[in-house]
Amino acid sequence: MLAAELRLHEVRVLVLEKETEPVSFARIVGLHIRSIELMAMRGLLERVLEHGRQRPAAGFYAAIDKPAPQGLDSAYAYLLGIPQPVLVDLLEEHAIALGAQVRRGAAVAELEQDDDGVTVELADGHQLRTRYLVGCDGGRSTVRKLLGVGFPGEPSRTETLMGEMEVGVPPEEIAAKMAASRETDKRWNLRPTGGGRYSVIVPAAGVSDRAQPPTIEDFQQQLRAVAGTDFGVRSPRWLSRFGDATRLADRYRVGRVLLAGDAAHIHPPIGGQGLNLGVQDAVNLGWKLAAQIRGWAPETLLDTYQAERHPVAEDVLDNTRAQMELLSTGPGPRAVRRLLTELMDFDDVNRYLIEKITAIGIRYDFGAGPDLLGRRLPDIDVKRGRLYGLLHRGRGLLVDRTERLSAGGRPDRVDYLADPTAALDVPCVLLRPDGHVAWIGDDQRDLDDHLSRWFGEPAH
Ligand SMILES: Cc1cc2nc3c(=O)[nH]c(=O)nc-3n(C[C@H](O)[C@H](O)[C@H](O)COP(=O)(O)OP(=O)(O)OC[C@H]3O[C@@H](n4cnc5c(N)ncnc54)[C@H](O)[C@@H]3O)c2cc1C
Repeated sequence: MLAAELRLHEVRVLVLEKETEPVSFARIVGLHIRSIELMAMRGLLERVLEHGRQRPAAGFYAAIDKPAPQGLDSAYAYLLGIPQPVLVDLLEEHAIALGAQVRRGAAVAELEQDDDGVTVELADGHQLRTRYLVGCDGGRSTVRKLLGVGFPGEPSRTETLMGEMEVGVPPEEIAAKMAASRETDKRWNLRPTGGGRYSVIVPAAGVSDRAQPPTIEDFQQQLRAVAGTDFGVRSPRWLSRFGDATRLADRYRVGRVLLAGDAAHIHPPIGGQGLNLGVQDAVNLGWKLAAQIRGWAPETLLDTYQAERHPVAEDVLDNTRAQMELLSTGPGPRAVRRLLTELMDFDDVNRYLIEKITAIGIRYDFGAGPDLLGRRLPDIDVKRGRLYGLLHRGRGLLVDRTERLSAGGRPDRVDYLADPTAALDVPCVLLRPDGHVAWIGDDQRDLDDHLSRWFGEPAH
């Protein structure tokens, strides 16, 4: 995602990937509303929809079963289930189509930075030179470790086994068992994935050595312990294990090296937010880093990446901590869960939680101003169609209902739309390339100050 964002501004990008082949591990991820909006903003949504399954934006906060709240303010108010490898392929194709290079079998092993750039050494001893480096290399990030950036938080306490396999009993029997245990135990789950196979999630507690890959016998043993039967599981396609470690990098930038995605934050998968958070990091960072490289970035622009995204990750970590507590089986957490389940009958409570998880509730701190300032603008109607259709090129956009303002000499960075019919209840908004509202008003001088703040001085 980041490679593509950078390419929109014609920055030369090389992606180094240590694996020689794409991973086929069929983890289904849910794209939440804000990520779906970002796909629409970059013209990717149709392709993503071809491979995904739409579900109501409901039932994912601590797996509490409630309908979607009323009036979610988005044209894309659903959850999109898609296998992670498929999404990764689509994003890779998109980045390559825009001109990014991807080099596989290239593992970053060392790095050294100076005033002008970063020297990267690969595991095979090969050296490369770059002006900036972004570590998007996952929770065990080599780049983060090489930078010496702290990764404080809690170690994994609960391990979970996950895999895809065949079952030896009819679907009705599985459904009945699951329904019977749902009230008291949410830690295990069997979900059909097609072709007679099921995705199976079960606590790992006590089975096998963490350092060894799990076996089908581990799944059988654990299913018997929690469900009273192993459902005849057999013939696994893949088996894996994940933990609930919760950690956040204490810096997202050291000089010319930055961190994004799981390299910067890890947390349990409850609520399905990790990949979404990383995609949103990328869209926040891409245009800022491009501006820095193209030479028009205002001095502090790149540092707004950490200022904006670190608190968002902190909040996601906290909500996963809370959700994990709500899944605990002790009498205290179960009482809190019952209480929250009742509270979610209030639409405002339900909406608050769903907006948090789907990231449409985010408001960056751009200073004092109306509530819309710092929030993302939904995909409103504009005279040439939809707003997001105008953001495919990853530039800023001035939406001007007064038809008398100007983005002033920044044709490479900010587009202009004069549209008295735009579905806004303010005269004019300045959008950043990530779709967040950077300014609201009708005064050209005030606008000029904000254009300089976000998009630098006009080109001469
Ligand atoms: C069971 C489970 C379910 C999940 N469900 C969801 C969900 O529903 N929704 C959601 O949003 N998230 C979900 N997640 C989280 C999501 O999978 C991760 O947040 C996401 O994969 C992070 O993406 P990333 O690109 O930052 O890191 P990764 O996916 O870890 O990718 C890092 C890449 O860097 C490469 N790499 C590593 N080291 C080096 C090196 N030294 N040099 C070069 N390359 C290197 C790796 O090979 C890898 O390809 C789930 C996670 C789990 C475990």
